[in-house]
Amino acid sequence: MTAAPRLGCIADDFTGATDLASQLVSVGMRVVQTIGTPLGPLDADCDAVVVSLKSRTVAPQEAVRLSLQALDWLRREGAERFYFKYCSTFDSTPDGNIGPVADALLDDLGEEFTLAVPSLPANRRTVYNGYLFAGDVLLNESGMQDHPLTPMRDAFLPRVLQPQTRRRVGLLSHHALAKGTAGVRARIAELKREGVGIAVCDTLDHDDLAAIAEGSADLALLTGGSGLGLTVPATFPGFAPRRDAADLDAVGGHALVLAGSCSRATLAQVGHAKARMPAMAVDVDALFAGFEAHVDALVAFATSGVSEGPVLVHASMEPERLQEVQSRYGTGESGETVERALATVARRLVDEGGVRRILVAGGETSGAVVGALGVTSLRIGPTIDPGVPWTQSAGSGAPLALALKSGNFGGPDIMTRAFGMVR
Ligand code: ADP
Repeated sequence: MTAAPRLGCIADDFTGATDLASQLVSVGMRVVQTIGTPLGPLDADCDAVVVSLKSRTVAPQEAVRLSLQALDWLRREGAERFYFKYCSTFDSTPDGNIGPVADALLDDLGEEFTLAVPSLPANRRTVYNGYLFAGDVLLNESGMQDHPLTPMRDAFLPRVLQPQTRRRVGLLSHHALAKGTAGVRARIAELKREGVGIAVCDTLDHDDLAAIAEGSADLALLTGGSGLGLTVPATFPGFAPRRDAADLDAVGGHALVLAGSCSRATLAQVGHAKARMPAMAVDVDALFAGFEAHVDALVAFATSGVSEGPVLVHASMEPERLQEVQSRYGTGESGETVERALATVARRLVDEGGVRRILVAGGETSGAVVGALGVTSLRIGPTIDPGVPWTQSAGSGAPLALALKSGNFGGPDIMTRAFGMVR
């Protein structure tokens, strides 16, 4: 018999799910992250499960459908309380998807009230008087106003959220937080009396996150970023942090690094790694001239080096060169082709090259690699860098050690340092 998870989380994207899972592990919960909603029972001992969806930018009805499916599965797994995780920059549009999903989850749980706590003080995402700050500037001055899919042109979250939900939106401000947990409890009671259904919470620091979690411990559903993941676990009655929360089984075998992100951080990491391990760049022209032949060449190169230490295969390129490639082959088409090539390299190196430890740079790239490897869930292990844990795969085949990082995450030496951490 495996113990039921106490906390059931639904995350609107993959790397955000991993980020939340890491926070929960860091305070002593054993956590499993699933890729999508599993078809059957999980059969894993854990305190929390994070279901990672791809629902941030799909149509609102689709986001609602996926989220309710996840909720239904989490309830059947035995979860007592639920967390809807979105980005700390509140990525959404006037149509959703934060409001519609929160509404649907509340309705399905038969609940009337929840909080919205996007803040992540450790990364300097804070909320004051309802205004979200990224570092020293308002959200709408942080670069997020130009985001291609979810441009955030207003930092006042109650105004951002109101058109997305049929519930009344309110504010739990720093005035309540100044009185700690009791202040939060009193303010929630007041907001409920006023007919508010979702309250945006101010948060300046970790103490605020603790007061919010304690003061809302009787709510079945919470919503927010990964920050609250640090303080919610302690509110479960009888919960004792586990010393072995981040322990994974030892995974022997060769190591591979795959980079499909062109973000600034990944470019620097690739530059650092290239000087320290054998590296081969994906040639996009060669891929379009003959996909199989070029993948064969990448596989042959990686196979010849992996017995000596980690090998790097990367598609990452500087923005100007990337634009050239994209105008030649199309952004979507070239991106997908590169993802498929890297995913195929991963699959073949695992099948034929003795690789069992892989670090992948890039959110979409990670999704493609995990798909090609037939991985359906990940046990979350020790943190390499904030938001980037080592994980251990479950699914078809023997377990793999996987580090899946969003392009912008991680220090410059992560591609070499990470492998020193796993047994
Ligand atoms: P990030 O986490 O930085 O957003 P992703 O993996 O999510 O990284 O997205 C990067 C996208 O860029 C992927 O679709 C990837 O295939 C694509 N890409 C990477 N390198 C190239 C390249 N050289 N030419 C075309 N597309 C590329």
